[in-house]
Amino acid sequence: MGRGAHNYNDKATPMVRQYSQIKESCPDAILMFRLGDFYEMFYNDAVIASNILNITLTSRNKNDANPMPLCGVPYHSVEPYISKLLESGRKVAICDQVEDPKLAKGVVRREVTRILTPGVNAEGLGLSSSQANYLAAVCLHDGLYGLAVVEASTGYFSASEYSGRAELVSELARVAPREVLLARGRKGSRLEARDLSEAVGGALVSELDESEFDSAGLRDIEGGDAVAAEMPAAARAAGGALAYLTAAQMGRPAQVVRIEFGGGSTMMRLDEQTKRNLELVSTMREGSREGSLLWALDCTKTAAGARLLGRWLLYPLTNCGLIEARQDSVEAFVEGAELRDAVSSALAEIYDVERITSRAATARANARDLAALAQSLAAISKLKGILGPLEAPLSELASRIDPMEGLRERLAATIVGEPPLSVRDGGIVRPGVSEELDELRDAVSGGKRRIAAMESAEREATGIGSLKIRYNKVFGYYLEVTNAHRNKVPDRYIRKQTLANAERYITPELKEYEQRVLGGEGRAKAMEYEIFSELRREVACAVARLQRSAQAAAEIDCLLSLARVAVEHDYARPKVEDTPALEIADGRHPIVERLIEERFVPNDVTMDGDGRRMIMVTGPNMAGKSTVMRQTALIALMAQIGSFVPAKEARIGVVDRIFTRVGASDALARGQSTFMVEMAEASVILREAGPRSLVLIDEIGRGTSTFDGLAIAWAVAEDLHDRVRARTMFATHYHELTELARTKDGIANFQVAVKEWEGSIVFLRKLTEGATPHSYGIHVAHLAGLPDGVIRRADEVLSNLEDGEYDEIGSPRIAIARGGTARDDAQYGLFAEEAPSEVVRALSDLDADSITPLQALNIIHELKGKV
Ligand code: ADP
Repeated sequence: MGRGAHNYNDKATPMVRQYSQIKESCPDAILMFRLGDFYEMFYNDAVIASNILNITLTSRNKNDANPMPLCGVPYHSVEPYISKLLESGRKVAICDQVEDPKLAKGVVRREVTRILTPGVNAEGLGLSSSQANYLAAVCLHDGLYGLAVVEASTGYFSASEYSGRAELVSELARVAPREVLLARGRKGSRLEARDLSEAVGGALVSELDESEFDSAGLRDIEGGDAVAAEMPAAARAAGGALAYLTAAQMGRPAQVVRIEFGGGSTMMRLDEQTKRNLELVSTMREGSREGSLLWALDCTKTAAGARLLGRWLLYPLTNCGLIEARQDSVEAFVEGAELRDAVSSALAEIYDVERITSRAATARANARDLAALAQSLAAISKLKGILGPLEAPLSELASRIDPMEGLRERLAATIVGEPPLSVRDGGIVRPGVSEELDELRDAVSGGKRRIAAMESAEREATGIGSLKIRYNKVFGYYLEVTNAHRNKVPDRYIRKQTLANAERYITPELKEYEQRVLGGEGRAKAMEYEIFSELRREVACAVARLQRSAQAAAEIDCLLSLARVAVEHDYARPKVEDTPALEIADGRHPIVERLIEERFVPNDVTMDGDGRRMIMVTGPNMAGKSTVMRQTALIALMAQIGSFVPAKEARIGVVDRIFTRVGASDALARGQSTFMVEMAEASVILREAGPRSLVLIDEIGRGTSTFDGLAIAWAVAEDLHDRVRARTMFATHYHELTELARTKDGIANFQVAVKEWEGSIVFLRKLTEGATPHSYGIHVAHLAGLPDGVIRRADEVLSNLEDGEYDEIGSPRIAIARGGTARDDAQYGLFAEEAPSEVVRALSDLDADSITPLQALNIIHELKGKV
């Protein structure tokens, strides 16, 4: 049976009818329907959910012609199940009983109380603490692309606007949302999911009616008017995001109090390739955080700090003033070892205030959240106490912290230190908070004492020494007498239950105390819940202030983290300026230097957009070309988030955009040809890079014939130098390209030095001026284990090629060996007189002119396999 297609007939029970009506209101979500102690799922939802959750699928009315597939999960532990459904990209609608079943006439009233989606998860169910969970809303308005990004579990909300689709796509890729919201509207005017498919990757695509993309919703939000006035397309996208959140949360998303301008011209632009190639937040091969730049820089102590650092990394600044402000704070922390320790230990006591606050705002926080909030506010206060008396900029950081003493005191004075998870079963509120509650509790414990006293009194009165007063949920309090003493039971005892070896009784007196105890307990629990809810509402009202304080603490955490890394790994403060210069002395790769066992060799890189702006890097494979290029980009990027950098000294002219064209292994996996990918990437660079950009090109033109490739690489390099004028590092195996430096002032040749030693090479890892005389491909092949015979032969073929020995028809005489002719040279056993082998045939069929060095290596490898 399809979704929403459960046609109930007259025979359907009222409950099934109720279910079907509710299901119609949320056809695209898995409906979790509260029935007693379970959340049940039916029909197709049950089939899907049982599969994802790995729980048993059964059915109601098994013998019917139309059995009803069904599966369920216990209500008190529903959260892990919800997270699992969200993780697998499903939406979940939670349907609760909204009246007391005991008071209900007929079917208990039920309503959907909230909807969770992969991108709207205000409770933060199953989310990693260090990762943000974004919903991105996108719309097209008057030819502009509006983008709004919201994080429901923290209240983060930003909006930005783009004139081109490419820009929008690269911004979306940077955000990496879990869910993308599009406007459902007229064809032609709207964006289609496939327009964005490169960027949205694994995200769930949802739609909302175009009319809901309305900026009016921003009115109540701080900063909303500014966005609406300056960026109408962005404001509409933001309106769409808010409408979607409102629908999911069944009410105004109270955790969202402020909207900021995202993206924008004060940020470096980063596209998907660069984010991936530079391994900013995850590694290329495993996709893991470990080994990424974020991993290398993250010493944060708080969840909000870790999330913010991730955002800083993806949004490097381009404004020198803002960058220097961060550097000043980092420097202050670098200079104070004791200060670092003190701030660090205060930060360590801060829980995830952003997420707790959001849960409070949506009335989902429990007492443990509030206890954690009290502790966090105390620590935040401590932070202010440490930084406040210091000089600027630290005192300025402190001034942004609002310790909210009043709220903290009330939380600490009201909620016990270690409250239980459940908010309705009491044990939450401290004594002394409410006189009425204390009296009730006294009455309850008085009643309990009376009951305990009754036990000894009854023992004495009846002479039954083993008589006990016990309690269970069904009968309440009762007296229990074993069968041996049955005859001593007085008449005033009323028998309630007979067991195998005992009888259970009650007395009117016992029931009276019981009522006092149980009634009192019930009232006390309700009162505790009321006090707790009141406090939670108070927290909800303080959302904006709490978020601002939490944000300030998160920033301090990030700055301290950068300082700790700088101290531990000996980084220097770079000079950041508004010029096209880039000078790095003794630069290191922040990740490679930590992962390799041998000593990392530092390198200098100097470029200047007005003068020498392109460095042509040659050197054999494995020499360290791509390492030195990447480290240059990473150092510039680190400088622009305010971090110190792994170098002795650095001067960084602000980079507006980093472009990378390196390897294409994952595009290959997607089935695109290497060459096409290379060319597409190169054309983006030539079209979009400017004089303030930084361009890394690690080989280009390799997927075609040697001459084609060289010609293209040559033309690309020239254009980058002459017209684009971007600072460029260009690694290549075509040493013909090093000729360019003779005619172009702005191009310099550098090589990653190697030393020839006993016929082999030693990697020196040092970038030095000059061009590598040859490719050393054969040396590297030798290092890699190709047999000596093949290596010697390859050397011969190479010198023939280099000497330009061609035969009558113009192909290189590769078969001619130095010492004689191929045919009498039996040294390699390849060219034996009789019966030319497969290998010989393969070689003579080969058009050496049209293969690349890489293909040549592969062929050598293949031939070797045959011998
Ligand atoms: P290429 O791009 O020239 O093929 P890589 O940059 O990939 O070479 O470097 C190959 C390996 O050499 C790296 O994985 C690293 O282990 C090592 N390496 C590179 N640069 C250095 C350096 N400056 N100091 C020490 N080891 C280095």
